[in-house]
Amino acid sequence: MKHITILTTGGTIAMTHTDAAGGAVPLLTGADFSSALPRDLAEIRAEEFSNLPSAHFTMDHLWNLSRRVAALVARDDVDGVVVTHGTDVLDESAYLCDIAIDTRKPIVFTGAMRAASDPGYEGIANLIAALQTAASDDARDCGALVVFNDEIHAARDVTKTHTTALETFLSPEFGAIGRVYANAPCHFERSEKSGGQSEISRSARNDTNGVVIARKPTRREFIPATRLEPNVTLLKLAVGMSDGLLEYLVDVVGARGVVLETLGGGRVPPWWLPTIERAVKNGVAIVITSRVGAGRTLDRYGYAGAHRDLVQAGCWFADGLNGQKARIKLMAALGTDNAGKYF
Ligand code: ASP
Repeated sequence: MKHITILTTGGTIAMTHTDAAGGAVPLLTGADFSSALPRDLAEIRAEEFSNLPSAHFTMDHLWNLSRRVAALVARDDVDGVVVTHGTDVLDESAYLCDIAIDTRKPIVFTGAMRAASDPGYEGIANLIAALQTAASDDARDCGALVVFNDEIHAARDVTKTHTTALETFLSPEFGAIGRVYANAPCHFERSEKSGGQSEISRSARNDTNGVVIARKPTRREFIPATRLEPNVTLLKLAVGMSDGLLEYLVDVVGARGVVLETLGGGRVPPWWLPTIERAVKNGVAIVITSRVGAGRTLDRYGYAGAHRDLVQAGCWFADGLNGQKARIKLMAALGTDNAGKYF
């Protein structure tokens, strides 16, 4: 049997309503999760990292979580790690583990949209699917994964797309890489007991473990960061918007990096260009992504503020990452001695 560690961090998967709080708060522990799991999935060890809503995470929290996951997967007696996590920033945390941990072992993030006190709580189903994935040989060499709603997604591609829907985690550009057929590994055998009664026993088939990885992620990258650069901001552009915030970040805050969620395939209003050029000249890393939500920033336009002007200004490009993940990547890259190598 595989040895899987569940690292709990909080989130709705660990939440239940209390009258004192007047709403759902994180209370469930690893022991609560373990007691709800089938015994034949894996040899499971639960460890609490935190019990917080993910909106309370700091960058230190995120970095330390990735270091704890790195330490766990480095151990011979750990075959894979499942991280239970709040869904609000789950894609950022999973992506950080994807780029900052060099391992062949599965690292699988999961959570829940409904609290344990809500009707239809899906936390245990998601956790079982995540454990099945972490115990699967097919999930090795895939980088960090996100398992939700029986779908397996690459951390690089996945994002939260809906505020309340159970099928919120999607990979808008390329789709899921696999699926967990939750009932597939189990089959029921009927046998006649000596007293003539029939007995149904449940056993696990370990051949596929119910996990099908249809395609392995090919765009994997490892950034050997020793820290995350904290002074990196994400700005989203909108029609007619002033570049004042960028000016403020460059001139007053002394930003080390700014990620711009630009328009369409990588375009900015022309009045942003002088500030972008000045930022790059002053050593501020400007990373371009799109506010659209899927696709790379590339175009063939010849007008001011189009993609080629951003190339000429010396911007870096996020290669299809969404804004929040481009920020994580830039923070990690600036935590090495050669950030430009990764863009
Ligand atoms: N509030 C939750 C969080 O910690 C949302 C969730 O987990 O679904 O991110």
